[in-house]
Amino acid sequence: MKVCKFGGTSMADGNVILSVAKILEADPSRRYVVVSAPGKRFGGDMKVTDMLYKFASAIESGDKNAYEEIFGKIRTRFLSIQTEIGTDMGMQAELDEIYATALDGAGADYCASRGEYLSAKIMSAVLGVPFVDPTEFIRFNENGVLSEETFDLAKAVLSRYPRAVVPGFYGLGADGKIKTFSRGGSDITGSIVARGASVSLYENWTDVSGFYACDPRIVNSPKNIPELSYQELRELSYMGANVLHSESIFPVRSAGIPIRICNTFRPDDAGTYIVKTHKRKVGENIVTGVAGKKDFTVISLEKSMMNSEVGFVGKVLSVIEKRQISFEHLPSGIDTMSLVIDNEYLKNGVLEEIIEDFREVVKPDRLYTHENIALVATVGHGMANSVGTSARLFKALAEAGINVIMIDQGSSEMNIIVGVDNKDCERCIRAIYNEFFN
Ligand code: ASP
Repeated sequence: MKVCKFGGTSMADGNVILSVAKILEADPSRRYVVVSAPGKRFGGDMKVTDMLYKFASAIESGDKNAYEEIFGKIRTRFLSIQTEIGTDMGMQAELDEIYATALDGAGADYCASRGEYLSAKIMSAVLGVPFVDPTEFIRFNENGVLSEETFDLAKAVLSRYPRAVVPGFYGLGADGKIKTFSRGGSDITGSIVARGASVSLYENWTDVSGFYACDPRIVNSPKNIPELSYQELRELSYMGANVLHSESIFPVRSAGIPIRICNTFRPDDAGTYIVKTHKRKVGENIVTGVAGKKDFTVISLEKSMMNSEVGFVGKVLSVIEKRQISFEHLPSGIDTMSLVIDNEYLKNGVLEEIIEDFREVVKPDRLYTHENIALVATVGHGMANSVGTSARLFKALAEAGINVIMIDQGSSEMNIIVGVDNKDCERCIRAIYNEFFN
């Protein structure tokens, strides 16, 4: 059995939806379907989810003209899908109900979730397969984190359906209201359904033929990655390779269910397989991929004898914990330690405030910051056993004239992360790609 998740571009209009139905009908083992809200049909078009968020904030601010206008566009979008498919799927009544519930104060998560909900209603009608609402099994705890009970519930609910269409992106919060995952979260729903239904493969259908060794907007026609491990995927997608949501591997990982990335618009392409252990074939690159993410700040603390000061790290972390700030990396030396933090957390004077706190709490000899840093990760299990990988990487960066501000090598030896100035991010990725792939 397979679960197939279709992303926004695969649901963008009636004609694409009909081609998705053909993909599903071509393989009877494709039993469970998870869908995103309709995405962009052309450059400059608006994703339905973005429209729904706009709708929710217009309601919130009480701007009647604005919410009527944007809901009009959402309505047109779904009605035209219905017309293109050529069957009345009850869209008009569904939209009326959504509009009324939203105006009744259902909130932003409810509004945002309706794109997936309607997409699934459409897909269910096209395929003649039951619609199953994810609020029946996806549960979040009081902290908004996916709750473990989800997996048993998913198993129990899905066992009643030999085939089902499930909307992505949402579940039920601890308060009994609809709650969404973070953006792109339908991938996580796909993964939950895959584990709940104990399938042998999770096919994630999108508009690219799998993962590339780096972002095609940075390097022309980069190599396709035929196979990568869950861990490599996690590193690459966390660092901005946004083919798949970085959290979507967790539900399938423990069950060992492989994910295949497929292209709805080129269904015969091999795509990329994401598996538990990626066995490198002879002659395969030692690096699997390179990805980068901009806009971080590095806060470095220096203090003599830091290594022997018991509780030093605890004090440092208490400063950011107090403000609910999480850090990305924590490279350290004998007398130095740096915190790498997403700029998002440091806006509106927060950076200055935590610097003050550090001075007070840990009394460093020196404290300095590097703002607007990009992190670039070079990822691959093959790197662990290959002598000279770092030398090649840093030589390539030196030759490209790129100043490396920070280095962090994961203890698994499957990644080397460098911090460079935001403006050097693309050049850095290109230099590393050319060194290992050309
Ligand atoms: N529609 C949601 C978004 O745009 C979720 C998803 O597509 O996965 O983020």
